[in-house]
Amino acid sequence: MSNTELPLAQRDPEIAHLIREEEALEGRTLRLIPSENYVSRAVLEATGSVLTNKYSEGYPGKRYYEGQQVIDRVEQLARERLLRLFGAEHVNVQPYSGSPANLAVYLAFCQPGDSIMGLGLPAGGHLTHGWNVSITGKYFTSHAYGVSPNDHRIDLAEVARLAKEHRPKLLWCGGTAYARTWDFAAFREIADSVGAKLVADIAHIAGLVAGGAHPSPFGIADVITSTTHKTLRGPRGGVLFSKAELAKELDRAVFPGLQGGPHNHTTAGIAVAAHEALQPEFKAYARAVVDNARALAEALLGRGFSLVTGGTDNHLILIDLTNKGIAGKLAAQALDRAGICGNYNSIPFDPRKPFDPSGLRIGTPAITSRGMGPDEMKRLAGWMEQVVAAPDDAGLTQRVAGEVAELCRSFPAPGLLT
Ligand SMILES: *Cc1c(COP(=O)(O)O)cnc(C)c1O
Repeated sequence: MSNTELPLAQRDPEIAHLIREEEALEGRTLRLIPSENYVSRAVLEATGSVLTNKYSEGYPGKRYYEGQQVIDRVEQLARERLLRLFGAEHVNVQPYSGSPANLAVYLAFCQPGDSIMGLGLPAGGHLTHGWNVSITGKYFTSHAYGVSPNDHRIDLAEVARLAKEHRPKLLWCGGTAYARTWDFAAFREIADSVGAKLVADIAHIAGLVAGGAHPSPFGIADVITSTTHKTLRGPRGGVLFSKAELAKELDRAVFPGLQGGPHNHTTAGIAVAAHEALQPEFKAYARAVVDNARALAEALLGRGFSLVTGGTDNHLILIDLTNKGIAGKLAAQALDRAGICGNYNSIPFDPRKPFDPSGLRIGTPAITSRGMGPDEMKRLAGWMEQVVAAPDDAGLTQRVAGEVAELCRSFPAPGLLT
């Protein structure tokens, strides 16, 4: 056998071993980072296919390279399925990920220096909605809106006032650490009142929208951007949707504006994920993600945890650890040692620094993909209370890690061999 025919384990044992290790780690721990999930074996197979070999700059029927007989059909299928799934007019499946998808929206509709508005990072927004360390905050004039100091929910009157004052070209809605429902219709009204384009970034909640567990921005927002790898349960990637009249500008912004050839293996994985999300059981999954987040929030409140906005409407929970007397980073690290993996996160009006903030962000998409339910959420809250109360107790974290691994064995994760 020539070297190029060798399986990974023989050709590159070091990397093969690390992949096995990661697989085991993902299998024996509770993965609570709300932007993560487990893809199916089918999505993994499509993503790890020979489609990675092909160059196909352009779009189906209008390519700059020959040999697109198969690739065109793959991209068409991905598009058709996504349009059906979300009830959209136009979709572009080529953005390399969520951030490039968002950048394409700026390129399509803004000039450098133009005024834009989005939810500020400390209030739960995404970097690419104009935060100052991002290219979107450097090349455009960003006026972030925040959340109300009283209930930590988005204050629509404040958004309207800022929009009147700054007349943004783009008004972004969507976030990464906001646990409440987005009122897309209210944002539409504000955008219309100042002539802004409304962009809904549903990266986190795309699976919930597809499954009917969060209101849909389709038919309301001008442009909708998303990742494909969070609640949507596809490979890492990005997509852009719009009304038909904006299709040309957006497509030109993605290619040739920002990118070269699309990642065709990813496109195939996205097509598979869309196929899976079109099945009736995906609705049940989306519902269960939200039900589990509610159950976990209730259980945490019962154990004295303080939650930003007091609870959740979606898949994620932002915990304010101040009353527990522990910083977010220490808590996240202790929980990780116990097999419970979340991320430290700023809370609105956080008195602490972003690299060592007061909050912990967790979510239920991945553990729901394993089939866990409300009973498991109660056990999880119990473990979290114990670990956060004694983060330096190595015996405790070890015992919890063992119990977590045992629970995980009863709920095998999709796509894992171990
Ligand atoms: C995750 C996320 C993104 C960026 O996605 P990447 O694939 O990490 O670039 C953009 N917007 C929001 C709201 C997100 O949550």
